[in-house]
Amino acid sequence: MTLASSFVTTPDLDDQAQLYTDLNDPEIAGIIAHINEEHIDELLGFLRAFSPLSAAELEHTEVQLTAIYAEGICLQAKSLATRPIDSKDSHRQPQSFFIGFAAPLTQVDELQEQYILLRQRADKKLGKKTIKLTRQVFVVERSYKVSENMLRLELSMDSQGHRHDSSSPDTVPTNEAGYAYLFDLAHNAMTASSSQPSKNTAPPARAQVYYTLRKAWRSADGVQAWVDVFLHGDTSGGNWAMALQVGDTVVTKREFPEKVAHLHTGQTLLIVDETSMPTAARLLELWDNPTPPLIICVTQDAADQKYFDDITLSIDAKDSSKNSARHHIDRHFTVLPMIMDPASVGQNVAPQIDRQLADYLAKQPLQIDKVWGALEAKTAKALRPLLQKRLGLERSDVVVKVYWRHD
Ligand SMILES: Cc1cc2nc3c(=O)[nH]c(=O)nc-3n(C[C@H](O)[C@H](O)[C@H](O)COP(=O)(O)OP(=O)(O)OC[C@H]3O[C@@H](n4cnc5c(N)ncnc54)[C@H](O)[C@@H]3O)c2cc1C
Repeated sequence: MTLASSFVTTPDLDDQAQLYTDLNDPEIAGIIAHINEEHIDELLGFLRAFSPLSAAELEHTEVQLTAIYAEGICLQAKSLATRPIDSKDSHRQPQSFFIGFAAPLTQVDELQEQYILLRQRADKKLGKKTIKLTRQVFVVERSYKVSENMLRLELSMDSQGHRHDSSSPDTVPTNEAGYAYLFDLAHNAMTASSSQPSKNTAPPARAQVYYTLRKAWRSADGVQAWVDVFLHGDTSGGNWAMALQVGDTVVTKREFPEKVAHLHTGQTLLIVDETSMPTAARLLELWDNPTPPLIICVTQDAADQKYFDDITLSIDAKDSSKNSARHHIDRHFTVLPMIMDPASVGQNVAPQIDRQLADYLAKQPLQIDKVWGALEAKTAKALRPLLQKRLGLERSDVVVKVYWRHD
């Protein structure tokens, strides 16, 4: 049996420790805690793809990553169902599953790559879009402000994009909201220092930053794209974006789709800040649900609320199947603006968001069915249970992602 395809039920933690190689690295505990906090969906995906648990059982299963060994990861699945879901679910004892990496780790630095490979394998088995580790090269066409603190980068990749390594304009998605690229800031620091050796070009504190593909479209020459960068002071990402010149190349190292498929039905609520406004804007342009969403938009500066002013909600022209044009509909989406006190930036503002929602729902009774949001880590973590309670929703209906972390 190869490790790559293996999953083993290991009922006892002591058994696991004897079977697999401990990584003995002080970072592991923090990595496990982070994955259990932010990546539960992926862990459930691993169980769905690699364990014998049925979809019905997994609906009522709590999953936890319990260990990372050189050979793979151990997941513990605990049934929350009060009665057996099907004949296989004869007991409510937690079950442990070992899922093997494609290749055993020799050091903890290799974990990220092996974890991504695991995710790709699981997503492929489940028929889902997945994370990619490709390198893409775009060229900067121009940049300009679209609101007080939001800088738009206009990028292109011509049909000769493949000249640059694996770049291919065909793989840039034109019909997806929230598709994110990991930008390699170090690439520009290196090119700047080699072309202008006298200039002060200290490497950025962060070598890579995620930004969303705000929008992309095909042109005669290849593909054009917008990326909107929120400028919030003297930071690696903002400085990188501001320093880019027409004709510079920018390089991406990783890309992945956002989890927004649950927004196709029912009354939806989007909760965004400056970092997730680009995803919400594209969601609105590609809106695929007869009911417009309610949006809570949290910004540090009132002037950035303008970002949504020019966005039009559109729906697919499903009736004319040969024509892929989109029709604009007159029904408007509602934006509830929230301007934060500068002192609260990076603090947990979940209670304020919950109160704003409660006040609105008291005046406009709405049954919210699904939520998508992306915010700062502390707020995102605190907001999930508040929303589940207030709206009476299941965990899977409330997707609130971490897009940034306050130091
Ligand atoms: C999937 C995904 C998609 C994203 N898409 C976008 C996007 O389209 N546009 C965009 O602008 N951002 C986006 N982000 C967020 C962006 O990656 C982070 O804000 C990142 O930290 C910015 O890097 P930086 O170098 O500016 O700041 P960092 O080096 O991360 O931090 C420097 C300082 O700035 C603070 N800081 C970081 N982010 C913010 C913020 N948003 N507001 C206030 N203070 C902050 C930190 O606490 C720290 O003190 C996305 C993140 C993810 C995970």
